[in-house]
Amino acid sequence: MSKKKALITGITGQDGSFLTELLLKKGFEVAGFIRSNSTGSLGNVTHLRDELQFYRGSLDDERSIEEALSDFQPDEIYNLGAEAAPFDSFRRPVYTSDINALGPLRVFEAAHRLQKSSKKQIKIYQASTSEMFGAPADIPQTESTPFKPNNPYGVAKLFAHFNARILREGTQGMFICCGILFNHESPRRGMQYVTRKVTVAVACIANKVKDPPLNELGQPIITKDWKLQMGNLDAKRDWGYAKEYVEAMHTMMQQEKADDFIIATGETHSIKELVDAAFSHVGLKWEDHVVVNPDFVRPLETGPLCGDPAKAKKVLGWEPKTTFKELVGLMVDSDLAKFS
Ligand code: NAP
Repeated sequence: MSKKKALITGITGQDGSFLTELLLKKGFEVAGFIRSNSTGSLGNVTHLRDELQFYRGSLDDERSIEEALSDFQPDEIYNLGAEAAPFDSFRRPVYTSDINALGPLRVFEAAHRLQKSSKKQIKIYQASTSEMFGAPADIPQTESTPFKPNNPYGVAKLFAHFNARILREGTQGMFICCGILFNHESPRRGMQYVTRKVTVAVACIANKVKDPPLNELGQPIITKDWKLQMGNLDAKRDWGYAKEYVEAMHTMMQQEKADDFIIATGETHSIKELVDAAFSHVGLKWEDHVVVNPDFVRPLETGPLCGDPAKAKKVLGWEPKTTFKELVGLMVDSDLAKFS
């Protein structure tokens, strides 16, 4: 029997890499849709390069999507590619919308055309997000909590989320499931995201690293006088372990019927708790190292975010396993080894 084929956009990112490992283990043939860059970097899937096929393109380039799909003929598409940093989306709302709102629609339309011409069903996973809830009235948030995003990232993702529902429930009858994933982290998280920024800073401070790294946006992780600059310490998020969250993505795609699912831990923690857990892990007090810089406060805050994963547990048999403290600990340990 021939192998099932999965095409992943955003394969070089945190989720893309964990999902690739999972799908390869399950016997899938996997292709990655990746952006052209001058260094040819494959990010988090560099170690898997010989097992994968790559298509160069971008979610704002319809033709590259069309060509990748028609050449690879996937059974499953995981659309994880995105301008994925909510804070940065305030600075780049138009580009964020092109990639995160129109990008998925380009993928859905190309898949629909291929499905019609090839007469085989193509299943799609769309990476929706808890940021679509904005500052929600319901705590915890469920699949029926109203959406009211508070940043351009969340607005763009909601556009894609609603288009997925229209294509699923309308006469097109496409199989598109949306995972409404709450924050999920790992040592593979980019350093521009708050959890990883904290764990890298803790490692650099604890190990007295001479040249602390810059993040992906070229910004320093810590200041010249060894301070970690943070925004709103009272913002609350629901943080889980990314490796477990990609299992939920795959399980959603194996259901008879496409549907939307909240994937979350059901626990909420503040940024203050995050810095406390990270600095305590190496025996330091966060108050001695963290300063608040208003430049890092979002113009409009999101949260408190706390997802209710009851439907995912009932239908998919999915449950989070790693606790908040364990997650922070494993990220700090990884960065202590990396930055020494
Ligand atoms: P990530 O590590 O930042 O990865 C983002 C990926 O998108 C990278 O592979 C990036 O490629 C790719 N990408 C960016 N612009 C693109 C474009 N124009 N065309 C094609 N690909 C493009 O993010 P992640 O944490 O793995 O998240 C995966 C998905 O889940 C994203 O859609 C994100 O919005 C969503 N999500 C994440 C979370 C979370 O907490 N992690 C929560 C909810 C939803 P390069 O390597 O070229 O930059």
